[in-house]
Amino acid sequence: MNIQTPVNGAELYRKLQALNDDAYTREVCERHAATIAEIMRLKKERRAVILAHNYQRPEIFEVADFIGDSLELARRSSEVRDAEMIVFCGVHFMAETAKVFNPDRMVLLPDMRAGCSLADAVTAEALADRKAELLALYPDLKVVSYVNCTADVKALSDACCTSANAVRVVNAIAAEHILFVPDKNLANYVQTQTSKQIISWDGNCYVHHQITPDEVEKVRAGIPGVVVLAHPECRKDVLAIADAVLSTSAMVRYAEQSPADKFLIVTECGLSDRLLMELPDKHFFKACKLCRYMKMITLAGARDSLVNLRYEITLPDEVREGARRALERMLELGA
Ligand code: SF4
Repeated sequence: MNIQTPVNGAELYRKLQALNDDAYTREVCERHAATIAEIMRLKKERRAVILAHNYQRPEIFEVADFIGDSLELARRSSEVRDAEMIVFCGVHFMAETAKVFNPDRMVLLPDMRAGCSLADAVTAEALADRKAELLALYPDLKVVSYVNCTADVKALSDACCTSANAVRVVNAIAAEHILFVPDKNLANYVQTQTSKQIISWDGNCYVHHQITPDEVEKVRAGIPGVVVLAHPECRKDVLAIADAVLSTSAMVRYAEQSPADKFLIVTECGLSDRLLMELPDKHFFKACKLCRYMKMITLAGARDSLVNLRYEITLPDEVREGARRALERMLELGA
């Protein structure tokens, strides 16, 4: 989706009031508005587009040409036509995916520290060893990797998936035994939706994994009628008590279309910020969990990225081609 950019600090201040966050004072909004104007000018000069993940800071949404979840951003980065470069406001594996689909364009990540606990949970070497071990037991075995992994892990996979299409990809792939990496919670969720045998990896997203059923029940008891939407990266005891288990973009559609007006959004808090700004007539309660990696991307970092053309993402050809094959398989199977 595209977002309207406020022309000045006062408008930005008014808009960010919806977040009820003391950090967004009038002075801070004035500063952000000046940086936003600089970024908009630089985008034109550099012929750049900015893609932003749903978990980014609210002020980043103001400079984004497109905001979405991993699947939407993967699709959008494959459709970029009139730009010379992409600035990716998200984490490292997502910028790698943009590079996979845009080998001839410069792809920039404003901060190279923006990693991911899930992507760190699996290396290509460890995956190759485990796959060889399991193939001896299950000759039909296929590897499905959640997109939250590095490009070299994707290159060893038969198909990728996102939380939005994981079940569709697993059901469509020609195998009864699936090694699913790296998210154990998502693997457990997929197992509840398929008759195939899922063999999970021991990784998790530290943001979602720390959320407990007690926290959710406390909010539910305090806000009668609240609809609980949980992301499948959450633990299974949290998913068991949710009203719906949805990817981040499915949460946006659900909240837009539902007659309910109170939602507890059980995922990283950036999504609640986006919902509060886009649907001001509804009430969104946050899980109060922030991803430290996502929040490493700042407006100043995005501006400096455009000024200094840093930090460029590069991939060896064989990794890029292998990852592209697994991602395209996902787009085919998960459509
Ligand atoms: S929210 Fe979790 S899965 Fe997403 S980037 Fe942060 S650590 Fe990784």
